[in-house]
Amino acid sequence: MKTLIQGGYVVGFNGKGHEVIRDGVVAFEQDRVLFVGKQYAQPVDKKIEAKGCLVSPGFVDTHFHSGSNASDYLLNEPDKPDFFASNYLAHGAPTREGAKQAHLKDVDVGQRFSLIHILKSGVTTILEIGGPGASPEPYVEMVDEVGIRCYTGPSYKNVNFFHDREGRLEYDWDDERGSEGLKKAIAFAKKFNGACNGRIGTMLFPGHVDTCTPELLKETRKAAKELGVRVQIHTAINLIEFHAVMQRYRCTPVELLHRIGFLDPEVSLSHCIFISGHSWLAYPYGDDLKIVADSGASVAHSPLKYLKLGVTMGSFDRYLKAGINVGIGTDTFPKDIISEMRYAALCSRVAEKSFIAGHPRDVFTAATLGGAKMMGREDLGKLQKGAKADITIVNLKDIAFGAVRDPIKALVETGTSRDVRTVIVDGEVLVDNGKYLRLDEQELLEKVQAKGEEVWASLPKWHWTGKGVDEVMPPAFRMT
Ligand SMILES: [Zn+2]
Repeated sequence: MKTLIQGGYVVGFNGKGHEVIRDGVVAFEQDRVLFVGKQYAQPVDKKIEAKGCLVSPGFVDTHFHSGSNASDYLLNEPDKPDFFASNYLAHGAPTREGAKQAHLKDVDVGQRFSLIHILKSGVTTILEIGGPGASPEPYVEMVDEVGIRCYTGPSYKNVNFFHDREGRLEYDWDDERGSEGLKKAIAFAKKFNGACNGRIGTMLFPGHVDTCTPELLKETRKAAKELGVRVQIHTAINLIEFHAVMQRYRCTPVELLHRIGFLDPEVSLSHCIFISGHSWLAYPYGDDLKIVADSGASVAHSPLKYLKLGVTMGSFDRYLKAGINVGIGTDTFPKDIISEMRYAALCSRVAEKSFIAGHPRDVFTAATLGGAKMMGREDLGKLQKGAKADITIVNLKDIAFGAVRDPIKALVETGTSRDVRTVIVDGEVLVDNGKYLRLDEQELLEKVQAKGEEVWASLPKWHWTGKGVDEVMPPAFRMT
């Protein structure tokens, strides 16, 4: 079936970068784009009217964790004076005796919810870290049912994190655990690469620079090269990691990866915030930015998670100027890649103290071509003949946008995920008129709420304080 999207501002690809075609058209058949331009004279089976809309290549989310948003409420938990904003560890590390209680059943409810949530924000490809860890087959089935394109694999590391009853974070090292994890990840990568009609790609995801031994990281690179898959690792993610690596190896996380030969263009670094020169570090040595740039490795930037913690990358523009390929990720909730583009832009302006930094052109490119480059995909992140028919249509004809002169600036300065009208993956319309077509959203939301209640109720069983959620994370106002 041949489909024509007509009218609107079409973001076409001119061989070097994006350009906007006013009143443009995009024709596609099955999973491929046939034509992008001003007019398409051939007969078509279906027309999609996009007047007043932005017709964009589907966005690539380069850092995504599937699951319920329930534990996100704990991100700003105040009871962690020794964490220095390394806050995901507060809910990522239960007590030893409570560990089993924190592993909740029905994770698929949260996973399905987050996959649909991100799809509805216009993302057609995700790099999903760790999703298939618990149950690989059902996870792949879920991705197939949801319809999104997904690079994924189970995450693995050498340590288990726990809290003692006084709130100290403890690393339990176990070499066996790391190598078993890598084995499982390799098996997943072999078995599922190309599954779901090619929509599943596999990757290796060693956890973090401070949770994996250099040996495990070296084995990871070797295995990835043999498998022909890419690698992403959380790097320079928080101050605890930075100081742990500095104490153990007398170098920064980036320097350690460089020292062991880990970095090259097939590797991406999640976050990469706390690099030498970052204003929070008081570490005026070395040049991590140059190391990353020279290696050709990419950076997956998820600004909102850091903004919630009062941290900014210092700055997006500096990474681009150094020659680093940067993609945009979501990491936290809401998983709204359009807002993430805006946050990336605004953070960069604050960090640079410059209102001409954080250009909409650059963050939009990061959310499309940057992600595609990270995966070595010439057929994603762009609208051009032969590219995958992964297309996002955003409604700009809304009172919030007012008069639109430049649709990319309008999107980045004003848009949110709720402005996404249509999402097409592999030539299939999955979201139309802002509604996901394959499942009743209200029914799903009820399950998500019930799951959230279950997660919050379980807190005293595994949280180091033994307290309930209202004490650990008091609501904004007293609730009666
Ligand atoms: Zn992450």
